[in-house]
Amino acid sequence: MSVIPHRSPDDPAFVVFDRTLFRVDHALFFLRVEPLRRAIGTLVEGRKGWNLEAAGLLSEDNRLRACLAWLEEVAGIGEDVVEPPFEHEPAIDVVAAGLITSGEFQRAACPACESLYSPDQIVREPWQETEEGVTITGHRSVCGRGHIIHATTDLVDVADLEGFEG
Ligand SMILES: [Zn+2]
Repeated sequence: MSVIPHRSPDDPAFVVFDRTLFRVDHALFFLRVEPLRRAIGTLVEGRKGWNLEAAGLLSEDNRLRACLAWLEEVAGIGEDVVEPPFEHEPAIDVVAAGLITSGEFQRAACPACESLYSPDQIVREPWQETEEGVTITGHRSVCGRGHIIHATTDLVDVADLEGFEG
């Protein structure tokens, strides 16, 4: 069964942090075609009947559908590793974090220790960091040698300014 290599882009929420405090060595994750198709298909189905144009999701929906069609072609090829064409990467980005966070990938290559890990060799845990009044809460994946290879943000909380009288 084919796998699609994927490297997550840096979450924009992380820019508030000092690199040494919160560093992500983005691993190359090899995603299986079937869970990818299922995740994108569920997303597209769930939005049926929405006014996608009003929701600002029309172009994303078109990209998701095009990616779904491409994944169906890939499923029929049966090659080992299939590089995604550039235009399908944004659609894969939309669902990849959820698949990685739930351990639905074949293997991951950590760039820091140059090792391959299967999902059961990677610790997935909640995380929280605070810097200058901003607290970010999410989930992260940690390789067998302790490198953070993926992180997601579920909540960004900005503390009220102290002494501010509204
Ligand atoms: Zn590592």
